Amino acid sequence: MKTFTDLVREVQKPGLCHRCGGCVMFCTAINYGALKLDEEGKPRYAEKAKCIECGLCNAICPEIADLDEETKERLGWAPPIGRVIGTCIARATDEKIRKKATDGGVVTALLLHLLKRGRIDGAIVTKQSGPFQREPFLAVSEEDIISAAGFFFDTSHGMTSFSDHYLIYSQIKGFDPLIKKGLQRVAFVGTPCQVKAVRRMQTLNIIPSDTIKFCLGLFCSGNFIFGKEQQAKVAEIGGFQFKDVKKINIKEELIVHLNSGEVKTIMLDELEFMKRFACYFCPDYSAEYADVSFGGIGAEEGWTTVITRTPVGRAIFADAKPKEIEVNCQEDFPKMAAQVLKKVHKWSARKKDMAAKSRKLLNTKYPGIKKDT
Ligand SMILES: Cc1cc2nc3c(=O)[nH]c(=O)nc-3n(C[C@H](O)[C@H](O)[C@H](O)COP(=O)(O)OP(=O)(O)OC[C@H]3O[C@@H](n4cnc5c(N)ncnc54)[C@H](O)[C@@H]3O)c2cc1C
Ligand code: SF4
Ligand code: SF4
Ligand code: SF4
Repeated sequence: MKTFTDLVREVQKPGLCHRCGGCVMFCTAINYGALKLDEEGKPRYAEKAKCIECGLCNAICPEIADLDEETKERLGWAPPIGRVIGTCIARATDEKIRKKATDGGVVTALLLHLLKRGRIDGAIVTKQSGPFQREPFLAVSEEDIISAAGFFFDTSHGMTSFSDHYLIYSQIKGFDPLIKKGLQRVAFVGTPCQVKAVRRMQTLNIIPSDTIKFCLGLFCSGNFIFGKEQQAKVAEIGGFQFKDVKKINIKEELIVHLNSGEVKTIMLDELEFMKRFACYFCPDYSAEYADVSFGGIGAEEGWTTVITRTPVGRAIFADAKPKEIEVNCQEDFPKMAAQVLKKVHKWSARKKDMAAKSRKLLNTKYPGIKKDT
């Protein structure tokens, strides 16, 4: 039976761990407590002697392929980008949400809808928890959900929302309060790797993953380490100062909105120097295992691109219209939706290609950045 020691050798040492926290959560959830996350969110042995060699941390790890086929089958995953039931561009009807949101605020509007309708008791989201930190958070009220929307740029603290922690902190730590509060129906918002870890748990039918009723996935081209050095370089590339930044977003480029109203864009290729090592090996751009996936790509500023993927995803999205969510219904909408989907295909193919190439180079030549083990 493979244990955490094998995960260290096969996933962490080569730099493939994206710190989803699945291994730690599972081990902790069933009270083994052999594992812990260190201060940087990296999984470690807490007490090796407590490990009963059950092998479940290994089975849960999204980097281990053993459960892939079963998980795909359960979700009706289809190549090349997972199951797609429908694609559209939408936004929250509430302007207050849109103002706070990353793109069109559809994730927040959908969560609010589910909560108001009594379909969920809470949602695992992330929120800013201090300088350079964004933490998993169990939102149980409308205020909580709204407070987690989008991200803010705190000029006194630097690039808080795009710090290393913001992007990769163990979302699954959010399960802990969920267990304690005994909530039964929860929505989960996360990046593709985080969604995949949850789906793995669900495939194994592990408590408390059964309480996750809806998985909302965010498109993800990569995850960045945003230390002081990186911030300085980005500011230099973009020709701006962080004290002048109002909002930052990722679509096909990094888009920096300045307080003056000026918008600076930086090609994502130019940010390779600060990309997290594990992200070079990640093939999922569009949250292929989610019930509904969301991104900014292809949508105008202030709108969100939405892909419904499962019957349950389609149903909750349809139910939130038109009260909470407004779909862009321009005349040429079918053409527009097809174009958006084409873009998602293009970026997904690009990411898969890079992951495959990087994997071939693993253990021979790294893309020139520091391994994150
Ligand atoms: C790391 C990262 C990379 C991304 N890369 C791309 C990209 O390359 N192309 C693209 O089109 N879109 C990308 N997105 C998605 C995009 O930024 C928006 O999140 C998405 O369009 C939804 O916008 P919204 O206004 O509907 O969401 P909102 O209504 O603003 O809600 C966003 C929700 O996501 C939660 N959240 C925010 N950050 C995280 C996180 N790190 N982990 C888990 N939950 C989080 C918030 O708590 C909130 O509930 C990325 C998102 C992230 C987090
Ligand atoms: S007890 Fe099981 S889940 Fe925990 S570290 Fe050991 S093998 Fe992994
Ligand atoms: S990828 Fe996730 S489950 Fe795998 S070792 Fe890293 S934190 Fe643990
Ligand atoms: S690129 Fe992949 S591994 Fe990296 S944060 Fe995004 S989904 Fe996770």
